[in-house]
Amino acid sequence: MSILFIEDEPKVATSLQKGLEENGFEVDLAPDGAVGRHMASQKAYDLILLDINLPFVNGYEVCRSIRSTNTEVPIIMVTARGTVDEKISGFDAGADDYMVKPFDFRELLARIRVFLKRGGGGKEMNEGLILRVADLELNTASQTASRQGMPIVLTAKEYALLEFLVRSNGRVVTRAEITE
Ligand code: CA
Repeated sequence: MSILFIEDEPKVATSLQKGLEENGFEVDLAPDGAVGRHMASQKAYDLILLDINLPFVNGYEVCRSIRSTNTEVPIIMVTARGTVDEKISGFDAGADDYMVKPFDFRELLARIRVFLKRGGGGKEMNEGLILRVADLELNTASQTASRQGMPIVLTAKEYALLEFLVRSNGRVVTRAEITE
């Protein structure tokens, strides 16, 4: 699942990118509205996170521009502004959701998952999703694992456990979560 994050504050951009990558997403960063608009037209992203106050082209303009050619991709506006007028402007420009900074990363993650389940669930089923940790690779469509390109023979339960751990990459999981 690939996400485009259009954000001009490098610290916010890189910390969010790191968090999302730890949760299995591929994240491209765009440092301003003009670059972001261009990148959005070049690649089929699964979701776009969009700051409003951006250099060159603001988030509303970027959103309208993306929507003129792509009505499908979920767009979540992520901004320090939080008035009702600003939110309405965001939705008018074609945004699907709105998060006010500073926000809890887990909430953003939950909202992203809602959108991706809604739109991209079928895609994961058809094309499969490759999960990677270092040289370990899992294919969620064929439910197979390999390391350095060498297949690993696993039972269904072993595979399910491995996929769960890979998806929790970097996070300590409890016995209860594993059992569930
Ligand atoms: Ca900004």
